[in-house]
Amino acid sequence: MRLSLFMVLLLTVVEAGAWSNHAMLLWPVMKNTQALTENRLVVESLEALIRAEGAAIANTLDEVEKWSVANLDAYPPTPPELRFDPATPEKALHDFLAAIRVNPDLNYGLFRQGTVDDVANGQAALNWTDVSFLSMHSSTRELVYYQLKPGDLISPAHVMISANDEPDHGMDIGLYTDNGTSFGAAYGFGSQPFGNPNLDYSSQAPFHMGFYHLDWLTAQVEPDLLRTLPAWRIRLYESLAALAFRTGHDYWGWRFMGWALHYIGDLTQPYHTDPLPGVDLLSSLWLVVQGKTADAIQLVSNRHGVLESYQFQRIREAQLAQAWRGPLLSSLSFQDTACVHSGPDIIALTGDSKALGEHLDRTLEQQSPPRFVADPSFEWTGSGYEAEVDRLVGIFGGQSAIATLDDELLIHLNRFSHYASGWINQSVAFESGQSTGCSR
Ligand SMILES: [Zn+2]
Repeated sequence: MRLSLFMVLLLTVVEAGAWSNHAMLLWPVMKNTQALTENRLVVESLEALIRAEGAAIANTLDEVEKWSVANLDAYPPTPPELRFDPATPEKALHDFLAAIRVNPDLNYGLFRQGTVDDVANGQAALNWTDVSFLSMHSSTRELVYYQLKPGDLISPAHVMISANDEPDHGMDIGLYTDNGTSFGAAYGFGSQPFGNPNLDYSSQAPFHMGFYHLDWLTAQVEPDLLRTLPAWRIRLYESLAALAFRTGHDYWGWRFMGWALHYIGDLTQPYHTDPLPGVDLLSSLWLVVQGKTADAIQLVSNRHGVLESYQFQRIREAQLAQAWRGPLLSSLSFQDTACVHSGPDIIALTGDSKALGEHLDRTLEQQSPPRFVADPSFEWTGSGYEAEVDRLVGIFGGQSAIATLDDELLIHLNRFSHYASGWINQSVAFESGQSTGCSR
């Protein structure tokens, strides 16, 4: 018997972005460190990097491949014909994107995301549709980007905060054999492990969610849930970053580290580490017996969506008000001196995230309007309430509901800044010439 608990999951979990706008979350972590905000990196195109360092890139990708096959249980090996060959520089960019198996329709161009503290410096302003093929939604409508060109000088902070949001621009969309794309047919990931392959945004979920701590029985009956890949993405981009730093391409060092950090940020969110937070195995079997599985999944999906909308609104409003010393933004500017490494650190962090899921889920259930979080016939995503979620929470539960949800959010934002600052420390160590990053 298949539980079929999760075949419906991605019909409803379509946002799969974990936190809405990762750049906005990272800016408070970086903005007060002068060494990170100086415009000192020389902007360079991806193609220039690949043409300059083709042989080293081929070696690095080989090493990542060996590590991934040896260390990641569900890793689908790269088909041999996609292996990066530096001997054909005229096809370098195309071949590189195929070798790292990302969506080639994104242009991976030169831009940065604006912040509330921004001075445009005469750079041309862009909007979401200039940097992504995905349609606008409530949390991308207001965003501003600035065009960069080769030779411009930019700070590590601006590179990293921008890059930290890029994997949600479409990099991981359409990569499976049943997604109807020519590259998906060639990439070797097989069919989409869970979710609805006809919903474009859902196909990135297995790259951005890490179910590394499934209980034994769920893993037996729904083994496709084990086919999640963020730990691979993190290792891949970290290795490319180390190479870029080592060979003097610091702009790409910071940008690749930013790409990797996106997945780390996703994994700090409990909904990205557990398909049904707070529902233990016996309860989920009981849901199956009662025929209420789809309802449970819809409720979790809606709470996940409410959390993201609430987080986005609260952080955005705090930044627009320049409330940097308030609790929300202070929790995001927490700086850790330890380092975070790819590999076992990442698997451990998902276990901690999972452990926080039940409390988070219950808090959302208790403090938000019941229609949003306790009505399985309601769909949060696209409901039109996203942009006023905090006001509606206030109408429902008053200041105490806002305060309780903020306290819950603080737990998760604090964890995000802990891991983000550890990853920044790792980046600084690479940049200063330590080939394996900082020591343990
Ligand atoms: Zn994501």
